[in-house]
Amino acid sequence: MAEIRYTSTRDANIDISASQAIIKGLSNDGGLFVPKEFPALDTSLEELAGLDYRETAYRVMKLFLSDFTEEELRECINNAYDSKFDTPEIAPLMEAGGSYYLELFHGRTIAFKDMALSILPHLLITAAKKNDVHEEIVILTATSGDTGKAALAGFAGVKGTRIIIFFPKDGVSPVQKLQMVTQKGDNTFVVGVDGNFDDCQTGVKNIFNDRELAEKLKAQGFRFSSANSINIGRLIPQVVYYVYAYSRLVNSGRIKAGEKIDFCVPTGNFGNILAGYYAKLIGLPVNKLICASNENKVLFDFFESGVYDRNRKFILTSSPSMDILISSNLERLIYHIAGDDARVNAEYMKELAETGKYTIEDDMRGRLVDFLGFYADEEETAARIKALYEDCGYIIDTHTAVASAAYDKYYRSYSPKVPAVIVSTASPYKFSRSVMTAIDKANESKGDFELIDEMSALSGVDIPAAIEEIRNAEIRHKTECRTDEMRSQVEGFLMK
Ligand SMILES: *Cc1c(COP(=O)(O)O)cnc(C)c1O
Repeated sequence: MAEIRYTSTRDANIDISASQAIIKGLSNDGGLFVPKEFPALDTSLEELAGLDYRETAYRVMKLFLSDFTEEELRECINNAYDSKFDTPEIAPLMEAGGSYYLELFHGRTIAFKDMALSILPHLLITAAKKNDVHEEIVILTATSGDTGKAALAGFAGVKGTRIIIFFPKDGVSPVQKLQMVTQKGDNTFVVGVDGNFDDCQTGVKNIFNDRELAEKLKAQGFRFSSANSINIGRLIPQVVYYVYAYSRLVNSGRIKAGEKIDFCVPTGNFGNILAGYYAKLIGLPVNKLICASNENKVLFDFFESGVYDRNRKFILTSSPSMDILISSNLERLIYHIAGDDARVNAEYMKELAETGKYTIEDDMRGRLVDFLGFYADEEETAARIKALYEDCGYIIDTHTAVASAAYDKYYRSYSPKVPAVIVSTASPYKFSRSVMTAIDKANESKGDFELIDEMSALSGVDIPAAIEEIRNAEIRHKTECRTDEMRSQVEGFLMK
């Protein structure tokens, strides 16, 4: 099979291997790495229906990471998808209220980021070995909450790596914050930023693009990489669970191999849903990809009008991991619908950087047929949690509820005839305050851990280990900074 090479969304001259793209994270031109051509699934849908998660992961990831040997890739997969997950299914598919919920929160930090961040450290270390990289790898990441903890859990104690996390100090849930600031491991550094997620992300991008700093660090034996969802080492593992969800439906006789299904995805940085698009491009029978937004509905507006406009008020919602106005991974979609044209994409991104806005051409809009955007406001999200609990006894988190409510709107306007999988991105225990208040307003005044205990009583689902761990854990990370101090924080941590 031919090797799949990677190029930059902003410079067509870039031509590197998958392992090199994983090490670099982001291209020097500021672009994201994308496959130069798409492979095709070479395992039949019938055969996939009989495979477990790990084997499915191998069959999918080998297509994209074609410079990894079978042994290397299988070892990465086996190290990632093991008993760190609290179910051998890894990503179970549940049925509730007439739809399927793909639960991606059974990993160590109970959010879907674990699906990719459990394997990224292994891919990165393997990639470094393959390419004779000897510097210590410094993972630098901005997080809206869930990436931070999942990355910390993945990289803590991993030899040859250090990890630095920036999060908006007032923009994450109490559980998310506790999970991060109690992180153990000498190679970890967690900083609360006085700003929102976009500020953190922009700060990190600036540090990445700072050539002078990179040279200085190189001299000290360090090299930056990213655990953000812009790294293809995160994107590709996410393609797996779309294929797996489909194969579960075939396996249980809900659909016949070849029938199309819809996916509805609660979206922030556009990484998760883009992986669903990649699954479609390699041959998975996907009907529509429904992009669900919360009140920060910049993506909904984009799919409606072809105008991407981040010039608007940033709203803090009960689904903080989707409180994003610059969806980094959308750049990959723009590149693809421009006909894999780096020059055209680079112009849009320049416009975005300068004016906060761009409008795509009509022919590009025409290539968005696989997508539909819907959004749910705070009230609709809370109502969905309450209704699903009261009808089925199934408790979903706020992000999943945005998707579920968005799917409802899609269903009412389009009367789809195909089954739908709603991608369930976090355990309700991670957002217990918002979830329990949605079920009963009287819960508002109760303490965080009291609510967690009550949720367990209501749902009959055991409290996950990730929650028990932080009940009495020591706070180890107290650093806070302004956005213009991010660079000096990085230097301080590495040079100390
Ligand atoms: C990160 C996250 C999202 C958004 O995913 P993207 O890949 O950024 O679109 C949705 N829900 C939860 C719980 C998340 O952690």
